Amino acid sequence: MNGIGSTGQQRPGIKVDLRDMPDEKCPECGGVYFVSVIRIKRISKIMVGSDKDQQYPIPLLQCATCGWREPDPFSKPSNGTEPTDAPGEPSADK
Ligand SMILES: [Zn+2]
Repeated sequence: MNGIGSTGQQRPGIKVDLRDMPDEKCPECGGVYFVSVIRIKRISKIMVGSDKDQQYPIPLLQCATCGWREPDPFSKPSNGTEPTDAPGEPSADK
C-alpha cells in the first residue's frame, strides 16, 4: 500500500482559492496593502550575559496607504494604567 501516485506533497482537505478569501483591511482607511516594518528592541548585554547588546526585531504591519500600524505589543500604556478592552461598549443588539 504505497500507492500515492502523484509526486510532491499535498495537504489533504485544505484547498483554498485565495481569490475567494476576504482581504485583511486597514481599520483606518480600508486599504489592503501593507508593508512590513520592524521595531528592534535592544536587550542590554548585562541582562543576557554577553559582551554585546542583543537586538530583538519585532515585525509589524503598516498600512501602505495611510500609515496605520498594527498595535505594538511592546508599547506600554503611558501612565501605568491598565488598558481596558472597550470599557463602555454597549452590546445591546440582541
Ligand atoms: Zn490605512
